[in-house]
Amino acid sequence: MFFRHFFALCALAGLLAGAETPKAIEFSVGNMDLKTDPCVDFYQYACGGWMANNPIPPDQAVWVNFDVLAERNRAILQDILEKASTSKPGRDADSQKIGDFYHACMDVPSIDRQGLNPLATLLNEIRGAGDKKALLLVSARLGVDGVSAFLGFGVGPDAKDSQINIAQLGQGGFSLPDRDYYLKDDAKYVDIRKQYLEHVRKILQLAGATPAEAAAGAQAVLKIETELAKAALDRVSLRDPNATYHKMTVQQLAGLTPVVDWPKFFSLSGAPAIESLNVSEPAFLQGLEKTVASHSLGDLKIYLRWQLLHHEADLLPAGFETETFAFFGKVLTGALEQKPRWKRCVDLVDGDLGFALGRKYVEETFGAEGKQKTLEIVHQIESALHTDIEHLDWMTPATKKEALVKLAAVANKIGYPDKWRDYSSVRIDRNDAAGNDLRATEFESQRLARQIGKPVDRTEWYMTPPTVNAYYNPQENNINFPAGILQPPFFDNKMDDAVNYGAVGMVIGHELTHGFDDQGRQFDADGNLKDWWTPEDAKEFEKRAQCFIDEYSSFVATDSIHLNGKLTLGENTADNGGMRLAFMALMDSLKSKPQPKIDGFTPEQRFFLGFGQIWCNNIRPEAAALRATVDPHSPGKHRVNGVVSNMPEFQKAFACKANQPMVRHPACRVW
Ligand SMILES: [Zn+2]
Repeated sequence: MFFRHFFALCALAGLLAGAETPKAIEFSVGNMDLKTDPCVDFYQYACGGWMANNPIPPDQAVWVNFDVLAERNRAILQDILEKASTSKPGRDADSQKIGDFYHACMDVPSIDRQGLNPLATLLNEIRGAGDKKALLLVSARLGVDGVSAFLGFGVGPDAKDSQINIAQLGQGGFSLPDRDYYLKDDAKYVDIRKQYLEHVRKILQLAGATPAEAAAGAQAVLKIETELAKAALDRVSLRDPNATYHKMTVQQLAGLTPVVDWPKFFSLSGAPAIESLNVSEPAFLQGLEKTVASHSLGDLKIYLRWQLLHHEADLLPAGFETETFAFFGKVLTGALEQKPRWKRCVDLVDGDLGFALGRKYVEETFGAEGKQKTLEIVHQIESALHTDIEHLDWMTPATKKEALVKLAAVANKIGYPDKWRDYSSVRIDRNDAAGNDLRATEFESQRLARQIGKPVDRTEWYMTPPTVNAYYNPQENNINFPAGILQPPFFDNKMDDAVNYGAVGMVIGHELTHGFDDQGRQFDADGNLKDWWTPEDAKEFEKRAQCFIDEYSSFVATDSIHLNGKLTLGENTADNGGMRLAFMALMDSLKSKPQPKIDGFTPEQRFFLGFGQIWCNNIRPEAAALRATVDPHSPGKHRVNGVVSNMPEFQKAFACKANQPMVRHPACRVW
């Protein structure tokens, strides 16, 4: 599919989801388990009551305290969309687009009636390809429509010249969540693959294949995807920006994968004529050549057909979406029920026309006050990092100077973009759900493709305004906080500063620290992949980072599955650094604005409790296993206990003794 390529947008959290009934999520003593000793298991102490009172809703795989906020946002979006979807005259252009998109998505009888008609053109193109070369060009067309076919092609800044967008080509084309799912031999993965085969078979049969064709087709799909997965880099290697930077000419690329007519492929993808590009995983492109050579044209067609059906399943007749939930929802995440249709349709509008919907959301919810208050805390946290860097005992003045230059250059983006996206050229039809999705995706792909060779626009946002998340972008050196997260429980006007600094303060500190984690530190103030560290300081950093790798690798996610300390290193560094910065900022603010005990807790204690309660969660074992494999974030319990056990400030606040579990020896600390 056509994608926006960055070296790791460092988000605050992995996938979020919604629930049935929004309830109060504000900080509360009622969420705690006062019978537990905070120095033995702080997460249980802060969240025990919450966990007991908040079972996972049947349509969810994970249930985190702040998912209720995501759900509250989703309800606001639903209301906006319901109003926009009545086809009365005088609707503004954005309302027509988002309203009719939502209407078509909700109109299940019409979707059922149309069957596979909305995909007819694409299915015919696949069917009509006369040879493998022609079929690979069809895959370029599918990529523009968002289908993951054979590889990933997109646009992103040149890692070593971050002002300019270049074409980016890399691995892709498999449907299971990670290469491990294809390659590991444990019983669990073998069983998942068996069920996956069944799933692909059923989808192919629903689309008209005979039982025998469908069974053989499923085998071919699994075989092709397994070969692609084998040629792909694993997630830990993908975190190394140097391992995925291979600028080459189109001619050199043709040497890796001669079966693709690259100039035609790029032109069909909407890209301008190019001479060079970044090929993030050259070995994958060689693997792709072999895979294409070793399978018949017929099998390769079935693979593309499957990818198209899979991509569009939610907007196809009921059989497709039910079957897709049965595997991708139930088997992979453990969810018991499918999310109600309106939630999925809201999410689709957010995904396809997110800045038209987001604009309405911002008009309804986000005032100048929220922006001002957030900016104030951002400045306090940035000033805390400045002080922290100045006082580090392991860094030499030469590197400190560079670090401070980088810190001063961080741009802060809060709430929503300054200019809104213009969707006027996207045709949205009240009766064409899948067609709307394909056209909106095509619009976005072409918008991105036109950016190849052009300067990077750093005012663009890569999360929509209602999103409950945040990110640091290493290639733009900016921190981004969508309006959706700047609400309770993250930021609450009714709460004392201590709780707010532990919540939104930590989020801001987390994103800022990403600029200086194991990945972020490799980019300079301008966002270029360029080493600004002296060798001895780099060695000192690595030594400290290793402490985090060891600490988090010792945590168990579920059963015998441990966290991957290398995969989660950047996020763990950001959590630890972020909490320290937020604590420094709170201490500074308490000097001029002292705070009494509230509910019997000191400001320091409320700070840590505010942090802990953000991450209260319940999770199904399937989802815990999935996340341990794919999510660079540690699970809530370890995000909380992993951080506080490294902080003397915590141990002092709760009077912990040296031999208690929440007092780590040695304590890990980078920033
Ligand atoms: Zn993060």
